[in-house]
Amino acid sequence: MYVELRDVDKNYRGFKALDGVSFTVEKGRLVGLLGPSGSGKTTLLRTLAGLVHPDAGDIFIDGSRVNDVPASRRGIGFVFQNYALFRYMTVFDNIAFGLAVEKKDKPFIRERVNGLIDLIGLRGLEKRYPHQLSGGQRQRVAFARALAPNPHLLLLDEPFAAIDAKIRKELRIWLRETINSLGITSIFVTHDQDEAVEVADEIIIVNKGRIEQKGTPAHIYKQPATPFAARFIGESLVLDRYEALHGFEQYAGYDKAVIRPELVRITKHGKQQQLHAAEDGIVEEVFFRGSLIEVHVNVKGMRLVGYLSPEEDELSPGERVSVLVYRLYVYDEDRVQLVE
Ligand code: ATP
Repeated sequence: MYVELRDVDKNYRGFKALDGVSFTVEKGRLVGLLGPSGSGKTTLLRTLAGLVHPDAGDIFIDGSRVNDVPASRRGIGFVFQNYALFRYMTVFDNIAFGLAVEKKDKPFIRERVNGLIDLIGLRGLEKRYPHQLSGGQRQRVAFARALAPNPHLLLLDEPFAAIDAKIRKELRIWLRETINSLGITSIFVTHDQDEAVEVADEIIIVNKGRIEQKGTPAHIYKQPATPFAARFIGESLVLDRYEALHGFEQYAGYDKAVIRPELVRITKHGKQQQLHAAEDGIVEEVFFRGSLIEVHVNVKGMRLVGYLSPEEDELSPGERVSVLVYRLYVYDEDRVQLVE
């Protein structure tokens, strides 16, 4: 286990920003901390970095307890969302900064910085100043600067937040490939599920200062531990009142049910092949979403959502349909029931 947090709490004047946080990260993994604004992601990252001191709990990095180790001695690289480059320094000097502070000799610095300039693909731009670079290029420089002192752990706080949507997509793929090729254990913060799914090997879902679930994107998608986790990875519809559907009768009365629209099959009435399992429904609304059509149907007083391909028969509000639910997640307090 490369990073481990055990029961970490952080209070800000009685407000629990972190509430009993425990998790582990294995060496070489790229992990995304995903959660809504104010859930404690940044606090968590800064606690690991040594910039925030926890009120309780233990933090281990590479087997050593680091609670009392200052930030500068934790061997961590930090990339902030707003680049935080030095405006009056060139690309080269920005990347060299940490090495110059450590008083490394000039030839060493030159070699290391040149290697990093190649890594980030900015050869030829080393004499430019930050204002002469694009947002994506600046963020690459910030990344190289964090890597320069050869950290064992890289922490990135919303590294793509300040970048245009188009470049962001490119940069995500680049970052994932670069981090994987370096094999450096990395943890990044995001509030964007697509970003987390696309970049991370593993995702930790944070909600109100607590960990909701940790796992690979596919694992969380297939077995969301809580309705909150289901909502954060993939599309989902959370029903507060669940009436028994064919095949899932035993779960009536549970607190919450989650249904993924892509696992709901809606067809014109009478066309459904597996009629025995299908429910009757009435179409309430139809939304054209380009590559798919989103259909809202009423089944036993519940509003379910399913997708159709634009190639399929069109449906209109008021029409009778057959509705087949392939999978349902039912929750009772913290318990998850997975039904197939
Ligand atoms: P965002 O995505 O908006 O950055 P976040 O998940 O990173 O959110 P944090 O920045 O960790 O959340 O904040 C968690 C909670 O702790 C928030 O409610 C915030 O207001 C509070 N908080 C953070 N830092 C402080 C502080 N220095 N003093 C008081 N409250 C704070």
